[in-house]
Amino acid sequence: MNNNYEVAIIGGGIIGMATAYYLSKKDIKLVVIEKGYIGAGSTGRCIGGIRQQFSNHTTIRLMKQSIELFSQMEDEFGFTVEFYRGGYLLLAHDKNTEKVFKKNIKIQQKEKINISLLSPDDIKKLVPHINTDGIISGAFCPDDGQAFPFAVLRGYKKIITENRGDFFLRKEVVKLNKNKNFSIILEDGTKIEAEKVLLSTGPWTRELGEKVGLNLPLYPERHEAMITERMPKFFKQMIVDYRSDGCYFHQLINGQVIGCYTPVPNVPGIREDASFEFLPNIAWRMTRLVPSLKNASVLRHWGGCYTMTPDGNPILDESEIEGLYVASGMSGHGFMFGPAMGKHLAKFIVEGKWDMDFKDFSINRSFKISREHLK
Ligand SMILES: Cc1cc2nc3c(=O)[nH]c(=O)nc-3n(C[C@H](O)[C@H](O)[C@H](O)COP(=O)(O)OP(=O)(O)OC[C@H]3O[C@@H](n4cnc5c(N)ncnc54)[C@H](O)[C@@H]3O)c2cc1C
Repeated sequence: MNNNYEVAIIGGGIIGMATAYYLSKKDIKLVVIEKGYIGAGSTGRCIGGIRQQFSNHTTIRLMKQSIELFSQMEDEFGFTVEFYRGGYLLLAHDKNTEKVFKKNIKIQQKEKINISLLSPDDIKKLVPHINTDGIISGAFCPDDGQAFPFAVLRGYKKIITENRGDFFLRKEVVKLNKNKNFSIILEDGTKIEAEKVLLSTGPWTRELGEKVGLNLPLYPERHEAMITERMPKFFKQMIVDYRSDGCYFHQLINGQVIGCYTPVPNVPGIREDASFEFLPNIAWRMTRLVPSLKNASVLRHWGGCYTMTPDGNPILDESEIEGLYVASGMSGHGFMFGPAMGKHLAKFIVEGKWDMDFKDFSINRSFKISREHLK
């Protein structure tokens, strides 16, 4: 095999695979290098939620495009990715959260998102099984939804392979250098040369960046999730409870209920272990909101990473090393960002210019610390 490529993509999660997919459509000679299997990092551990309800114009625009791309996947791949628009229902249990919803709804309506603020009675009509005790209002967008991450990755892999993209799987990148081109050394000593390199290594991006002298403000933290056995379908929406002891969950189209919560305090580090406290906690949080879940049987529970930046926005840019691109810091949104981000990034890598304003995601921005929820 001739190991010289125009673009090497390190990391076979949603971001690397979406970018490789769009590069392969441009007939670029590319390779995807992945230390595990495709989806082994955060992507295979996420719960597949897709929403447009954000507080930032760039993110909303990106997500409008992503939703459109998810909706086209079944036709492009020739199999379903279980994309389904069941909507996202964000719940306010206090005035402050409602104030943030109202502020965000104005921004979202400017971007022509189909969004409304619902009263507790409207919420009860929408989700008859919900317990509305303490709910003041809810922000609802019916066009948000879900898709199955492994099916999306499988679709990308199928097309990349058809377009003659190469894969090195179960091969960790252990060295990265730049002379004229990039030289990438894998754990078994294989050497790969590439004109351009994308670091789409999720939680591992900071440590890989350090190998070439980059100091990236990326901070992985553990988030856990659980999934139940299948049940008759009884709600369609992703329900997001923003209380500090809240949670978020939805019912997949196959009837399984899948959900998470954001731990307080956060659990820093690259962590894929699962804690003892998560299951009783999430069971309590979910049944408080939807009491009929009390007889649900949990099938399994796992841990994975969100990769955070200080301001909650991702990094999507070329680094100070010419030809070295960074796409990481996706927080809890990388799966949904993936399709549109990969499309823009592929164009940027080939043409050297963005076709959308991504200064909010620039690598050199001043990262103002913000943990404001609803980012
Ligand atoms: C519990 C949980 C729930 C979530 N729910 C959602 C959700 O509902 N919706 C949503 O949009 N997002 C969600 N997310 C977030 C989402 O999973 C991530 O933002 C997204 O998967 C990040 O994708 P990525 O491609 O950047 O990284 P990853 O998927 O982590 O991919 C990076 C890849 O790089 C590989 N790699 C790392 N280092 C090397 C190396 N040296 N050599 C070779 N390969 C390497 C890794 O093995 C990995 O496969 C959730 C995350 C978690 C943990």
